[in-house]
Amino acid sequence: MQATRPYWWEEAPPVDLPVTEVRESCDAAIVGAGYTGLGAALTLARAGRTVQVFDRLRPGEGASTRNGGIASGNLRPSYRQMVAKLGAGRAAAIQAEAKAAREDLARFIRDEGIDCDFRLTGRFTGAARPSEYEELAREADLLRKSLGIEAHAVPRAEQRGVLGTDFYHGGLLRSDIGGLHPAKLHRGMLELARKAGAIIHAATPVLGFAADGGGFKVTTARGAVKARHVIVGTNGYTDGADRWLRRRLVPVRSRIIATAPLSDNLMSELMPKGVMVAETRKLHYYYRPSPDGTRILFGGRDGTIAGDPAWPTDGLRRALVDIFPVLDGTHITHSWFGHVAMNRDMIPRIFSREGMRYAVGYCGSGVVWARWAGQKAAWLVLGDERGQSALDFRPPPAIPLYAGTPWFLPAVFAWMTLQDRLGRLRGG
Ligand SMILES: Cc1cc2nc3c(=O)[nH]c(=O)nc-3n(C[C@H](O)[C@H](O)[C@H](O)COP(=O)(O)OP(=O)(O)OC[C@H]3O[C@@H](n4cnc5c(N)ncnc54)[C@H](O)[C@@H]3O)c2cc1C
Repeated sequence: MQATRPYWWEEAPPVDLPVTEVRESCDAAIVGAGYTGLGAALTLARAGRTVQVFDRLRPGEGASTRNGGIASGNLRPSYRQMVAKLGAGRAAAIQAEAKAAREDLARFIRDEGIDCDFRLTGRFTGAARPSEYEELAREADLLRKSLGIEAHAVPRAEQRGVLGTDFYHGGLLRSDIGGLHPAKLHRGMLELARKAGAIIHAATPVLGFAADGGGFKVTTARGAVKARHVIVGTNGYTDGADRWLRRRLVPVRSRIIATAPLSDNLMSELMPKGVMVAETRKLHYYYRPSPDGTRILFGGRDGTIAGDPAWPTDGLRRALVDIFPVLDGTHITHSWFGHVAMNRDMIPRIFSREGMRYAVGYCGSGVVWARWAGQKAAWLVLGDERGQSALDFRPPPAIPLYAGTPWFLPAVFAWMTLQDRLGRLRGG
């Protein structure tokens, strides 16, 4: 039997904050105490604003202490897809912002002295098919030439120098992506936000909002608040308090398993460079060594929308063994899931609606994006020009026939799994 709580919570479990009275008024009410909400709260509190953050769970108990800790600032659509959809200028601006956001997170962790095991390890993306290796090689060129990012293609013959498997047809190694301990990052941000004066209310759901004389009336389970500004950072945990947003974001379960500690020899054979790993499959897996280098943390789709059955854990274990056959029979100590938020065009967003600011839709890559977007939303509230962002555009469109229960996901997963299998058969 493995633990169903995140591996990260062994060292940094969510904290139980002292219960404090909900103040009747404040400059800003923030919904959600993950990276987004805390990024916004810290910025506003340091600018001298009175801030109350509300979370219906313990702070961080959403995705921000459950994730893989891969600091990628990934964008799901390829550069080419973004150019086709948004135009060359916007696509380039979004790519440049991803680079700035990654660098800003590294600077933030360093300057604020957050002890979260951050290391710029680099990331390898494995090609599931030979044709995808060619595409990754072109992407490496683009990253180098247009963004000055150190990146190169690794042919299959040299792959074992980076990752101990022959599963992929080569891949792309880039140096600007790293790994961290997500729950320690969250804990560090929580401490900073509280120290700056933000009041964080745990176990306090926001039940609704309404415009109220130039500001907002925010109704919470522990009383109503008059706030001049509202920032929503609920992402994959958005509930019925904001039905409008819920129709625009699909919560998708992502799951991670942790192996038992492996020998030093085996770890250096499987992960000789200690890099973060991604791949090109449609339903891709993401994995990494634990920060202490003793285990592999392996994440991917969960495929369920209710309950907590055993089969997604078995599916992940099989996928791990496909890549590293030597791990067949290795004990899995932890298996847990959380929700990421997808929107229709798969681009993270900062937007306004009826005066409220939203920062959501990181599509599984919020370690870099969420704090960045929360901070941007706060700067917009402050009228600070640093709030400008290439992610600041119209709200994502509503998803047809969807009101909050993603009934279509099992079918989508089955279809994508089939595509991946066929792709592998055709690709050799
Ligand atoms: C298993 C897993 C692996 C992942 N791996 C990675 C990775 O390796 N790299 C990466 O970049 N990203 C990864 N992610 C995504 C990343 O964790 C998220 O994008 C990020 O944490 C989002 O932060 P957030 O603050 O916006 O949302 P969250 O941390 O999810 O916080 C939202 C909060 O809103 C609260 N809330 C919702 N509704 C209300 C309400 N009505 N009232 C009060 N509070 C409310 C919730 O309780 C929750 O705490 C992963 C996610 C998961 C689940």
